[in-house]
Amino acid sequence: MSDLERLVRPDLRGRTAYGAPQLDVAVALNVNESSYAVPADVVEDMVSAVRAVAPSLNRYPDREFTKLRTALAEYLSRSGTPVSPGQVWAGNGSNEVLLHVLQAFGGPDRVALGFTPAYSMHPVITATTGTRWVDGHRHAWDAAAPFDVTVAEAVAQVRDVAPNVVFLCSPNNPTGTALSLDLVTAVYDAAPDAVVVVDEAYAEFARAGTPSALTVLGGHPRLVVTRTMSKAFALAGGRLGYLAADASLIDILRLVRMPYHLSAPTQAIALAALRHTDEMLATVDVIREQRDRLVMELRGLGLVPVPSDANFVLVGGLDDAHRTWQALLGHGILVRDVGIPHHLRVTAGTPEETTAFLGALKEVLA
Ligand SMILES: *Cc1c(COP(=O)(O)O)cnc(C)c1O
Repeated sequence: MSDLERLVRPDLRGRTAYGAPQLDVAVALNVNESSYAVPADVVEDMVSAVRAVAPSLNRYPDREFTKLRTALAEYLSRSGTPVSPGQVWAGNGSNEVLLHVLQAFGGPDRVALGFTPAYSMHPVITATTGTRWVDGHRHAWDAAAPFDVTVAEAVAQVRDVAPNVVFLCSPNNPTGTALSLDLVTAVYDAAPDAVVVVDEAYAEFARAGTPSALTVLGGHPRLVVTRTMSKAFALAGGRLGYLAADASLIDILRLVRMPYHLSAPTQAIALAALRHTDEMLATVDVIREQRDRLVMELRGLGLVPVPSDANFVLVGGLDDAHRTWQALLGHGILVRDVGIPHHLRVTAGTPEETTAFLGALKEVLA
């Protein structure tokens, strides 16, 4: 053991850092970013917004990011459930707001439960706060709904673990399916000592009739719904994630955030994007079409895609997923090996990218 390995927290020893490959490829369909660049008029607005704040960068930014919280609350309220600025919290990506939740409600001697396979960062963020992670399980037995979890299955696991934090991911990454609100409220009721987080990073891509957990925030003061501008909003590089919860829960998150954690340029850029909400979200329908096309055409290839409410498709039925991943990379196409045997995850991008991916996959499988 090297000196530093000896010094590092024992629970971090031997861990490897998060690292989806960042490779320079023609077709990057591996981290569920939007394939569509920020439109020129929005770029102009972002640049002038940054120019406007630049002279006062000698001062700290608005610690309460009041304008941004107001704009995010307005955006969430568009779905029909009124959300007030006091119910909104934001950070540098939803990963940071998840970290705030764990810093406040997790910690040593505390337990977080998630139903895997789900977002790989949930256990990682949990571990950084010294919180113990418990792997709950989704079932694989139902061919029509693989990687699903029933209300009864979820409730039994929650009762068994008695967690302090529960992670639900809906639509779920990497499987793509959304959870019912019945499951969300049943888990909430079964975990009286837990903050229940519903990670809705992909909410905007959900199929029609998929309700958001925002609609049940009222009367559930331990419920947290996280969102991000990284996916449907096409702003992964802007690093802006947020959550909605009871205002009193937000007050608790203020205890753990670093002062001034959202830089003035970050706030300005996110606000500029939100001023162009319709334009920023204009590609969501195109991406949904490509997602549904992927499911159809992958089925046509004899593979087993999981129906998706997100901007990606998990596809099973591959003999050797890693070999397929590598061969696709040889064709300049980067997808994600999420570590589930016989499966790969592919982001829905532009129609041209879908065509390139499907074409290369046919060759690889031949
Ligand atoms: C991509 C993703 C996020 C986004 O993280 P950011 O830090 O906001 O970029 C959050 N949750 C899930 C499930 C994701 O797949």
